[in-house]
Amino acid sequence: MAPTDASPDRSARRDQAVRAAVDQALVGPARPVAGLLDVTGIRASAAALHAAFDAVVAPGTEVLHSFAVKATPLVPVLRLLHDAGIGAEVASPGELALARAAGVPPARTVLDSPAKTAAELREALALGIAVNADNPQELARLDALVASAPTRSPVGLRVNPQIGAGSIGALSTATATSKFGVALRDEGAREWVVRAFLDRPWLTRLHTHSGSQGVPLELMAEGVRTTYELAEEINRSAGRRQIDTLDIGGGLPVNFASDEESPGHAAYAQLLAETVPGLFDGRYGLVTEFGRSLLAKHGLILARVEYAKRSGGRPIAVTHAGVQVATRTVYAPASWPLRIAAYDAQGRPRTGPAVAQDVAGPACFAGDLLAENRPLPPLEAGDHVAALDTGAYNFAQHYSYNSLTRPGVYGFTADPVDGVRFATVRAPQTVAEIVTEAGGDRRGALLDL
Ligand SMILES: *Cc1c(COP(=O)(O)O)cnc(C)c1O
Repeated sequence: MAPTDASPDRSARRDQAVRAAVDQALVGPARPVAGLLDVTGIRASAAALHAAFDAVVAPGTEVLHSFAVKATPLVPVLRLLHDAGIGAEVASPGELALARAAGVPPARTVLDSPAKTAAELREALALGIAVNADNPQELARLDALVASAPTRSPVGLRVNPQIGAGSIGALSTATATSKFGVALRDEGAREWVVRAFLDRPWLTRLHTHSGSQGVPLELMAEGVRTTYELAEEINRSAGRRQIDTLDIGGGLPVNFASDEESPGHAAYAQLLAETVPGLFDGRYGLVTEFGRSLLAKHGLILARVEYAKRSGGRPIAVTHAGVQVATRTVYAPASWPLRIAAYDAQGRPRTGPAVAQDVAGPACFAGDLLAENRPLPPLEAGDHVAALDTGAYNFAQHYSYNSLTRPGVYGFTADPVDGVRFATVRAPQTVAEIVTEAGGDRRGALLDL
């Protein structure tokens, strides 16, 4: 399980980028928080994902790695990934529009979602995007659509292998009662699925996504094995290779404890090769849908320390990064701890003996803490903190508590010789935009009723 991207390089790039971001006032008194994305790291993870599967699949196997757009729904990021040979997994009209804006072609796009409308399905089939049906009612809708117009879309069915939960309930997609897919161990379900395929020659894929943060790799591999065995059973019953592609989902957990990228895509691909040897022997095309494992390690949220105070003897750094940018961490700190790096007013790493302190956010409730009682070099007003490993889900899940503006996101490359270059990925939201989104141009609306 070797790290796929050398950790010292990553932390050196990060320190260089933070220094430059402060120097160039991407973060400063007027704009106290921003997101940074390490483009070199993203490219390295994309290459490592390709290499991980290239190492285990039979030559000639068709493999589409798609990125779960919900993890980082930013068009330039989707474009960068497309350039690195990674497609898009979308789960809403908004995500599909982002993938299209990024130039991801339909043939490299996969639509999943437990609540697709008839219009979404029709659009996907018209474009030729792969669709995974979630349930019998959706399959009935697809019956009608497929009969009414020819489509190039590969169509699959999502199954829930019901392998059990990981350590975070809200992210466990393969429990007995999960809302996703057809629950295979339910009475009569397996027979129903086999029949559904035999009745529909155009149904050619099986889909599962049974992992995510907190789910052990072995359990994920079990979910894939169950799905593979079902495909074998269906193909035997059909007397032909009706199922030609298996979509094994994403869900590789991320290490939030250090710079090391572990377990890594290579370890997972290796484990799959051992657990489900037939999966990679060339008889099935493959689709993957990794999200967090491609992006999390490559993002950080950089925030200025506005004040440093004490309360009940505890030092508290009051910063501009809190619940609005790290919602899960603030509301469920035990499940979503984040590493914090300390920098001084110029953006240089702060050193010195660690002192336990709270790193607080700007929102008006007591629990708005990025870290509690965390040993860090003493932070002072004007210093900076970086919340690490926040490249996935954090930029997506802005939470508009206290009408705090959505920070800008900047991609960077950092080279010891050439220095740091930034590109704006998403401009910071303005206060004027907040007012408009809050009905600012309808001021009197409620008076006129
Ligand atoms: C969320 C999701 C993914 C990506 O999950 P990660 O844990 O970010 O890898 C992939 N496929 C489906 C269907 C999902 O819902």
